[in-house]
Parts: sequence; C-alpha cells; structure tokens
Amino acid sequence: MPAISPDKPYRVGRSRTGLGLFATKPIKKGAKIVRYFGPLLDCRKKKDDAIENKYLFELNNRWTIDGSVRKNIARYINHACKPNAESDVSARKRKVVIRAIKNIEPGEEINYDYGTDYFKAYLKPIGCKCAACEKKRKKKRAEARAEKLRLKAKAEKKALKKAEKLAAKAREELAQKQKQKLKQAAKQRLNGARANGKLLNGHGGSAAAGQLSAAKSGIFVEPANTQGQEASASA
Ligand SMILES: [Zn+2]
Repeated sequence: MPAISPDKPYRVGRSRTGLGLFATKPIKKGAKIVRYFGPLLDCRKKKDDAIENKYLFELNNRWTIDGSVRKNIARYINHACKPNAESDVSARKRKVVIRAIKNIEPGEEINYDYGTDYFKAYLKPIGCKCAACEKKRKKKRAEARAEKLRLKAKAEKKALKKAEKLAAKAREELAQKQKQKLKQAAKQRLNGARANGKLLNGHGGSAAAGQLSAAKSGIFVEPANTQGQEASASA
C-alpha cells in the first residue's frame, strides 16, 4: 500500500470492491481532496495511443492522463453512481482534481462518478458495486421476494377457495342424494301405507271373517234355537 502523509485527510483501505480511498478527517464540501495525475498521453503519438489500462483519464480529444502510476493516490478512488466527490477537469491546464461535493465524514469512502464511457466499458458488464447500486439491488431482491410470497399466498388462497368450492359441491350433492333418498323412503312409506290399506282391507276381511264367524255363530245359534225349540219341545 502506498505511503500517505498523515497530514492528508485520507488513507487507502479495504472497500467492497478491493481497495478504496477513505476519509480520515472531515472534508468540507468543495474542498480539493487529491489530484489525479500521471504521464500525459498524446493520442496523436502511436506509442501513447497504444497504451491501454483502466486508469486512463481522457482530458479531451487529444490528451489523456495515464493514472496507472503507483504514486497517483487518486487511482484508488472507486466509482459511485451517487458520489460524494467529483473530478474537476481543467483540459487547458491538463489537470484533474478530485473535489468534495458533500461534507465527508472520517471513515467514509471517497467516490466520484467515472462517467458513462467507463461505466459502459467496465462496470455495466460486471454490475456496478457502488453503495447506491447495491442498495437498488437489495431493494429489488426484497421486492422479488415479497412478490414471490404474494404469488404463493395468492395461489394458496386460490387452492383453498377451490377446495372449499369442491367441498360445498360435494355437500350439495350429498344433500341432494339424501333428499332423494328421503323422497324415495317417503314414497315407499306411502306405498307401504297403501299396502297397509290393503291390510286394512284385509282387516275388513277379518271383519268379514267376524261376520263369517257371526254367521257361523248364527248357524250355531239357529240349531241351538232349534235345540231350544227342541228342548222346549221336549220340555
Ligand atoms: Zn453504481
């Protein structure tokens, strides 16, 4: 790790993406933090134009700072989509200064926006890991989880409703069957009553049998009478 004077309000430390630059003292909004420096590359020179690394800071169409040198402490500053610092570019002076755009507290990581070209080339393919993007991702994950739970609950509710409907249908069918059974039983009873009616007729029959027995007794009586007559006759 590079040696940094203790007078400076920053130090190099571990960040979520590797190394990063962190405030060690309060840094006021607008204050210059560190200069982004390195050899100037002239794109009109073939040798310069051939240099390729991710610390190149383009000043304009012609000039680029090669910030890959170890002494360039500013190269440790990571990109953030919602940064607390910015790169203040003076193309005329061929100079870049990283400046605070917010009050920065000790311990806070210093970030600036690397710009759209860098973002598209290096960050978008792997996914930006800045605090704002992580927060966005976390929120999205939480929303996805909530949506999943919501859909699951909905499916369960639907299944429950279906089961209830089926149960109600089954109950209805059972009730219908029982009604039919009762109806049938009632019909059978009615038929039975008719049969009883016949029995009643049978009873009538037995009454007839009584009459018959009465007739029998009549028959009996008559001979008795005759007997009586006979008796009286004999008497
Ligand atoms: Zn980001």
